[in-house]
Amino acid sequence: MNSKLRFLISIIIIIVIVIGCSPVDTTTVVETKPPKESTPAVSSDDEDTSFEKAIVAILEDRLTAIQTQDYDLYMSVITRNNQFFYNEQERWFENMIDSAISDVSLQILSTRMLDELTGVVTIRQKHRAFSESFDIEYPLLFKFEHGKWMDYGYHFEEFETDRFVVKYMEGETRVAEFVQMLDAAFDNLDGIYELKPLDDYEMKLFFDREMLRQRCIPANPWLFTGWSEPDESLKIFTGHPKEYAGYPGVVQHELVHHISIRICNNNLPVWMLEGIAMYDGSSFYGLEFSSTLSDLSKKNVSFTIEFLESTDLGSDLSSQQIRNYYNTSYMIVRYISETYGHDTLMKLFYEAGKKPFHDSTLNKTFEQQNQKTADEVIMSILDLTKAQLSEEYLLWLDTLDFDNLG
Ligand SMILES: [Zn+2]
Repeated sequence: MNSKLRFLISIIIIIVIVIGCSPVDTTTVVETKPPKESTPAVSSDDEDTSFEKAIVAILEDRLTAIQTQDYDLYMSVITRNNQFFYNEQERWFENMIDSAISDVSLQILSTRMLDELTGVVTIRQKHRAFSESFDIEYPLLFKFEHGKWMDYGYHFEEFETDRFVVKYMEGETRVAEFVQMLDAAFDNLDGIYELKPLDDYEMKLFFDREMLRQRCIPANPWLFTGWSEPDESLKIFTGHPKEYAGYPGVVQHELVHHISIRICNNNLPVWMLEGIAMYDGSSFYGLEFSSTLSDLSKKNVSFTIEFLESTDLGSDLSSQQIRNYYNTSYMIVRYISETYGHDTLMKLFYEAGKKPFHDSTLNKTFEQQNQKTADEVIMSILDLTKAQLSEEYLLWLDTLDFDNLG
């Protein structure tokens, strides 16, 4: 199984222009490859604050951790005060040690103290991935707690409602719009799911699409609009033009992931997770408002569950192949809901959720095990094998009028 598959538990894509930053040649301060010839020389004048010195040490450890795949070393300076961020950082580390990524270097561009226990460091990160060079800058927030400086992640601005927290990059102009969309998604899903989002649910807005990937899933070969994982925040790119009408569906898609993955305890395969997120999320405002669903045709969804399960979304697929995967997942879930009822669809998720939470981090057989769980729950709830369900589904497609799917 391709190693990328383990990252692809739940995704949305509205797809796919991979852009690379052009490499800029400057002095690299701390590097993993090639090995350092001398002690890193980060602004080593005597004026250094203890904060700067601490950050130099943290970044050196960080590179060592990536080079030696030392999870504990990496996570030792990640705060546990925010479970979403902690989980996201596990995934970030897992991505950064992926074989797709090499030649990582980190440089401190500046530091500033917000108060004596809080500082912001602007980092310049360079690395190679998919034969491209990346060169990015981002501000990281650090807080001094329990005797040491701890990483709090990207230094976002914050807006809090009584339902959720929105974090956004400085200069973001669309906060109110996205707050309204997430509020609407909460309302819409309230009538569909008994389980509610977590109280401290978070949405992170990025107007820089490359930054979203780099701070979220850097080993992913394509850029994306939104991303959700179990007990992580909803992360979304806000820079599509105003005419782009897909955002409310994307936000709701991601919120469906948050809820449905918690119901099944992360025990179901990608096609079921994406299928329900497309069905209860993306399609809610109409197929025509989703760039993926508006590409739906009989030919593009005439695939079996076995075909979906043998497709690795992390491999080098075309945009068309990815859209077909999502649309077929959507249609199979729609078939289950329209034929057996939405309650029965939910029973599949609740049945899978009887198993303990299935952690994907550093779990090579994650997707394989979830496919097996899907075998079991489809048999116990629908009394069908996947092959039988696929057969029923393909026959159902013959009965549909694809010009008026609604
Ligand atoms: Zn998704």
